[in-house]
Amino acid sequence: MIKFDRKAMNKFNQIPDDIKLKLLSNVYCSKCNDMVKIVNFEATTDKDDLVLNGKCENCSNNVVRLVESS
Ligand SMILES: [Zn+2]
Repeated sequence: MIKFDRKAMNKFNQIPDDIKLKLLSNVYCSKCNDMVKIVNFEATTDKDDLVLNGKCENCSNNVVRLVESS
């Protein structure tokens, strides 16, 4: 289940699909000590940056991906 706040959704939708895919597939998991895919994430914003909060696909650890606004 993916929940967005409106502002975060607008930002996320502006990202091209191929970049989105890269962002979602390259999230650091401290448990796996590796780059993993983020699943079941929610998007929020912190100032102008987009923040994705979700789970590691491999171990369900909480992972966060910050997407800095360009
Ligand atoms: Zn993990």
